[in-house]
Amino acid sequence: MVRLNGPCGNMLDKIIENRLLPLEMGHLSEPFRLRNEDDGRWRCEFWGKIVRSMILAWRGSGNAELLSKIRAAVKDILSTQTPDGCISSYPAEKQLEAWDIWGRKYVMLGLLRYVRDVERDETVISGLCRMADHLIGQVGGRELKTFGYHGGLAACSIINAFVQLYEVSGESRFLSYAEKIIRSGCSVRHNIFEAAEKLTPPSQTGNAKSYEMMSCFEGLAEYNLAADTPLYPAAVSNFYYLMRNHEIMITGTAGGHDCCGELNFNGRYCQTRTDSGMLGETCITATWLHYCEHQLLTNGNIQAANDAEITFLNAAIGAVREDGAWFCHINPTPLCAPAPKIPAREQQAGYGEDCCVAQGPEAVALAPFLAVMASPRGYAVNLYEPLEVRDLLEISGSYPYGPSARITMKNPVPAVFELDFRIPEWWNERCTLKVNGESISAEPASWRKISRQWRSGDIVEFGFDLTVRQIEAPGDPSSVAFVSGSIVLAGSSRLPECRFPLPEDAVFSDHPPFNGFKCVKAVSGGMLGDYASAGSRFLEDDLLQVWFPHETPVRIPYARGFDIPPQLRS
Ligand SMILES: [Zn+2]
Repeated sequence: MVRLNGPCGNMLDKIIENRLLPLEMGHLSEPFRLRNEDDGRWRCEFWGKIVRSMILAWRGSGNAELLSKIRAAVKDILSTQTPDGCISSYPAEKQLEAWDIWGRKYVMLGLLRYVRDVERDETVISGLCRMADHLIGQVGGRELKTFGYHGGLAACSIINAFVQLYEVSGESRFLSYAEKIIRSGCSVRHNIFEAAEKLTPPSQTGNAKSYEMMSCFEGLAEYNLAADTPLYPAAVSNFYYLMRNHEIMITGTAGGHDCCGELNFNGRYCQTRTDSGMLGETCITATWLHYCEHQLLTNGNIQAANDAEITFLNAAIGAVREDGAWFCHINPTPLCAPAPKIPAREQQAGYGEDCCVAQGPEAVALAPFLAVMASPRGYAVNLYEPLEVRDLLEISGSYPYGPSARITMKNPVPAVFELDFRIPEWWNERCTLKVNGESISAEPASWRKISRQWRSGDIVEFGFDLTVRQIEAPGDPSSVAFVSGSIVLAGSSRLPECRFPLPEDAVFSDHPPFNGFKCVKAVSGGMLGDYASAGSRFLEDDLLQVWFPHETPVRIPYARGFDIPPQLRS
């Protein structure tokens, strides 16, 4: 188990204490017991999203109270299963419509995570098989993409539930069903996987609904890891690059163009505009982190490891209220003028839930699993906040807000294996890396692989250069933002105001934590602080700003084309 003790770990503790433990789970299973969700809404997704979050959070914390809550919730939802195998919150005459299949997917994913990560309970597996067989029977000869919202993307995102069910049950009919959904192309508009093979931008794929679409690609990624013959093999990696090159904004999330920040909209190039709708749904943040995880599992993509760190430290912990009890749905909009982080509103009157409040904990709770991962010849170390991995290593130091991370080996028996250290994109000649006091070289955006006999007490020391860097907005040289390492800096109404554009000779200097900020940089009479802490009180007058005017007021409305990574150029 990886135990995080830095910004992600501290936020996870607050989320467990103030969001997950106080939840009344019977309230979330009630629609399934009564099958009274006859208004076409999505109360059906909350139980599964929250159980998934809870299981990850339990694994990253070992919290016993959380475990007993999870066990009771699983028993409870299975008790709503009717003899035909159905678990649904929709009345019989409305089943398969609207969000029904989507909600069943989240129930399946919650139960699957239980049997994979908590205990292999045959009753749960049999309940899952009956649930899946019932759905297959109910859909019959029709195509899944003809049901539900977003032109098939929502219903078809059930692919990964079928792949995982095949893996836990060994029943090949479930993998075949996943294959059938994939081959359908998942959208009534076109085949989204063929579109990714042709490098179609995500804003022109399906109906552009971001995390439903990403979930379908996640299903394809899982299918290709499980099946003997991969389908659309180029689509999984292409889609990762398409998302990062077209959609992912400076804070590490995506989504805009509507009232709720939920659509792909060429967001990387539109993040400094004021007419892009609301920005950055937190559900997209959680799904993007899983997509980065798949890249790491599939091909060890260093870019995905670096992207994940930026998302964890900015969009993910930055979407949580400072007490961990609530989340943003949209993130501050716009990013180029003072705006607050707005608490998600409950989506069904009186029900007390929101999709991002249910799924937000998942984004933060994923951090321990990506922090240190098994690799082909040992372990990959991805996050450098203070952490402990029992019988392997500990990390101490000030990173990510300060420059030092010290890794102390704790393996009880000396052994030869490889440690792959993630080197960030912003690594430069002022950064240092030492193994037992001896300097070694490293290249930016690469894995620094060290294979040797590791003994308890061996020390690896990072010295990161966190000098503030000015970043020009993609496609908009009139806007700049400031980053320190992987931390996005923001202006805030809780900090003395800086005047922009900054003078040519402006120099940032470190300032001790101030007014609730974990990282503060002083410049030209004012201060910038870490994006995660900015606006985190969720109050209307707790304002922040990420993009600032640059001296050359030139604006390019939309970027044409995009930077395809060299390996994808034909
Ligand atoms: Zn959401």
